[in-house]
Amino acid sequence: MESSDDGDSSTAAIVTKATIIFLFVLPLACYKSPFTEKLQTHLPTETAKTKTVSTPVKKKSKKKKLYLTFDDGPNRGTKNVLTIVKDEQVPVSFFIVGEHVFASLTQEKLWDSLKMAQNIELCNHSFCHAGNKYQKYYQCPDSVVRDFIQTQDSLQFDNAIARTPGRNIWRIDTLHFTDLKKSAAAADSLEKAGFVLMGWDLEWQFDHKTMSVTTSAEKMIAQIDSAFKKNRTKCPDNLVMLAHDQAYVKSVDSMELRVFLQMLKQKDEYDLSLVSDYPGADKKSPDSIKLK
Ligand SMILES: [Zn+2]
Repeated sequence: MESSDDGDSSTAAIVTKATIIFLFVLPLACYKSPFTEKLQTHLPTETAKTKTVSTPVKKKSKKKKLYLTFDDGPNRGTKNVLTIVKDEQVPVSFFIVGEHVFASLTQEKLWDSLKMAQNIELCNHSFCHAGNKYQKYYQCPDSVVRDFIQTQDSLQFDNAIARTPGRNIWRIDTLHFTDLKKSAAAADSLEKAGFVLMGWDLEWQFDHKTMSVTTSAEKMIAQIDSAFKKNRTKCPDNLVMLAHDQAYVKSVDSMELRVFLQMLKQKDEYDLSLVSDYPGADKKSPDSIKLK
């Protein structure tokens, strides 16, 4: 521990501090939840102390914006993600698969919880998620548009922001990018129909067999830092991070998510924002979405 006290060294103060440490801190130190252990490895040991000493935290002016986005819900991982982002009070955007909302009563209830949550934005991630047959799906632009409109009609998002399944495609104002050119016609049709398409700059990857994240919270933060620093984002000073709900089903992974969010808050370098704050993303209204 590198911290030292700030010069208040009267005997009474020392005795009081010693009593506090003995009564409260020591028993806590004996409690070893895996979560506490994990946090201790990541967070500076100052955390507990700064909570008890009410020094006002200087609010940095943050130029860089970070958008945390979670795809494919509602599914088995959504509840954990929602609980954690609510606990940590971090704004997060979910890209919802229409079909998943109606797949079970549990998922329908999850959808209701998402709608009720504060600081959460809900966006369109198609109805059928291409049935996971992406190449075939994007061959027919009109049916892709119909698929997204079906989700919009049934879930009534309050924004026009959408994300294409299995493809990193951007159509936001003047920002146009398509990872696989064969999907470009479908993306253009979605744009014409009134959707704003948001891809991602960085993905928190997971192993599709074990359904566990493959990168630690620490490494993700380092990747975010590096992407900003090297200007590897579609829009300077704006970074969209993609994650998937289903990667946080297991406690070891959801703990990693919690640590990640706590580290971001502790770091206090980026303005955590909802996707409608992304430059140009709110220029279209969901009311204007229609088949053209
Ligand atoms: Zn997806």
